[in-house]
Amino acid sequence: MDQGDLQRLRQQMLSMQQDIQEQEAEFKGDGRPVELDQNKVGRLSRMDAMQMQQMALETSRRRQQHLLKIEAALGRIESGEYGYCLRCDEEIDVRRLFVDPTNTLCIKCAEK
Ligand SMILES: [Zn+2]
Repeated sequence: MDQGDLQRLRQQMLSMQQDIQEQEAEFKGDGRPVELDQNKVGRLSRMDAMQMQQMALETSRRRQQHLLKIEAALGRIESGEYGYCLRCDEEIDVRRLFVDPTNTLCIKCAEK
């Protein structure tokens, strides 16, 4: 992989990381307050409210997993291991990385 691609992928991950961190901060209420439509909330049943709470938690959990994957990928860039399949050590097709820069497997291993 050439340095230009590597830098672009790194930038892509850094901005993804920032977006996710902002979403998490907002979710946890550290960011700007989420606007609540009082009328809407008032009409929600207790079940709906609980379901929404569950979904929000699930989304947050997925965001945190995504963050971990990004951090791991950034770490691999630092150590020069980025872009190689974790299973077979072959180079991962760069087009695959542009689709998802946190990919850790080559197409062959991913399809196994
Ligand atoms: Zn592989």
